Amino acid sequence: MTGLVIVGHGTRSAAGVDQFAALVERVRARGDIGDVEGGFIELSRPPLTDAVGALVAQGHRALVALPLVLTGAGHGKGDIPAAMAREQQRHPGLSYRYGRPLGPHPLLHEALEQRIDAALAGADRGGTEPAGADRAGTEPAGADRAGTWVALIGRGSTDPDANAEVAKVARLLWEGRGYAGVEPGFISLAQPSVPAVLERLRRLGARRIVVAPYFLFAGVLPDRIVAQSAEFAAAHPDLDVRVAEVIGDCDALADLVLERYAEALGGDIRMNCDTCAYRVLMPGFADKVGRPQRPHDHPDDPVGYHHHQHGHDHHDHGHGSVAVVGGGPGPDDLITVRGKALLDAADVVVVDRLAPQGLLAGLRPDVLVVDAAKVPRGPSMAQEAINAALVSHARAGRRVVRLKGGDPYVFGRGHEEVQACVAAGVPVTVVPGVSSALAAPALAGVPVTHRGVAHDVTVVSGHLPPGHPDSLVDWAALARARGTVVLLMAVDTIAKIASVLIEHGRAPETPVLAVQDAGQADQRSVPARLDEIGAVAAREDIRPPAVFVLGPVVALPTTGLTV
Ligand code: SAH
Repeated sequence: MTGLVIVGHGTRSAAGVDQFAALVERVRARGDIGDVEGGFIELSRPPLTDAVGALVAQGHRALVALPLVLTGAGHGKGDIPAAMAREQQRHPGLSYRYGRPLGPHPLLHEALEQRIDAALAGADRGGTEPAGADRAGTEPAGADRAGTWVALIGRGSTDPDANAEVAKVARLLWEGRGYAGVEPGFISLAQPSVPAVLERLRRLGARRIVVAPYFLFAGVLPDRIVAQSAEFAAAHPDLDVRVAEVIGDCDALADLVLERYAEALGGDIRMNCDTCAYRVLMPGFADKVGRPQRPHDHPDDPVGYHHHQHGHDHHDHGHGSVAVVGGGPGPDDLITVRGKALLDAADVVVVDRLAPQGLLAGLRPDVLVVDAAKVPRGPSMAQEAINAALVSHARAGRRVVRLKGGDPYVFGRGHEEVQACVAAGVPVTVVPGVSSALAAPALAGVPVTHRGVAHDVTVVSGHLPPGHPDSLVDWAALARARGTVVLLMAVDTIAKIASVLIEHGRAPETPVLAVQDAGQADQRSVPARLDEIGAVAAREDIRPPAVFVLGPVVALPTTGLTV
């Protein structure tokens, strides 16, 4: 029978280590499965390597590794797989199936309910009740769930998905159990904090609160929950604040471990990948997408990670994605922070000619750079070929960045690429960029709006001349408007556009500025009146990429601007 290694993170709490060992023993004593060992990736003994070594010594070459974590965050997603990868290096031929995190699960919710009931009944299971608990001693609290609010306190993580799991458990704990309400909170790294959630409950009118740690075992953080709850209780003597026990070693937990073992063996591991910050972009967490998982140092591992520097990427197959990233007008440093983070994590970069080429030099040597202008194609198949390349690389499990100039949605065909990915079922995200429509004038010293001068700015594609049957632009309306017009892709059409604008009422003397290669070392700008811009642009040999900005803002004095 496949051996089971139960993997804990480790804790400085001796009680926590004892509870872990007791659970391992409880699972082993069930006798339902073969050999069972437990080990920690840091802080506590035995180290994981001893546990795996023991199973290997018993003849096992295939294991189930079960992370004993309630939610999938950094430890479960990165550190434990990395520690297991190290074990595979130590034991060539060793394979393992990785179980999923324990929660949310009804067995855990029932255990939590029992711990809450015990706290309500005033049972002293280890002296963790803060001072406020005594005051309710005369009331039959256990009977009064409707008068009891629960603060469910999770570990807290920089991984929003893990925090969301705690919120989900809070909701599931509330449903149907008759508590006045259950609110999630966190003891570290996430909000609301313990005092914040207790204050929230107080303002909601709570008189009795049970603080329920969503923790498997004793440890430094559960102790901190007790301390912070006691502090809050002391500051609010009118409230009855009690702290429930952690879930601890119990039959329900052993049942769940065995369930996760069977699930891993059966290949039915339903990881919650849809909201995994390492896989899909969530606001504020762009830097996580596709980030290689590099475990922190494990002092209790006799070999030590730094001797075996191998980045482990838990999403290196089956989890491809596409990010359509606006690279800004050209300089390396006008891309957004989010766009740069995605670029740094990319396996494949499909790049446009006008995208910031300088950024390519900073890519890892193993990144595949695809020049979109050279994607193999038949006549007029360019966009389809690019879309197909994005989809096929993502389907092969690669993190693809489609790096575009300016903003992807400003005359960039970005949405066609997004639609193609969506149609193919490939996860896709868009990162806006600094569009040349606004940046090129700015870099040439022209504000596209200015108080008292221009209250509108219109960005127009000049790729089709006025009068072209496919043109969607109302040139007459543009001529009547008084503000700023920025023309892109208009080098070939500027003379015709200028004359049509004048024909429909724009003043011939309206100032125009042509800005070529904005942001580049060879940026140049050429001024002219609207009635002369066609001739001037031709004479001065204005070439793409260039924008034309016209309107009263062009005449504003610039004072000492360094661009
Ligand atoms: N998505 C891009 C625009 C693509 S259309 C963006 O938001 O900037 C291409 C046109 O953009 C060019 O023809 C030119 O008009 C303009 N352009 C792009 N980069 C430019 C640059 N560095 N300087 C001047 N114009 C630029």
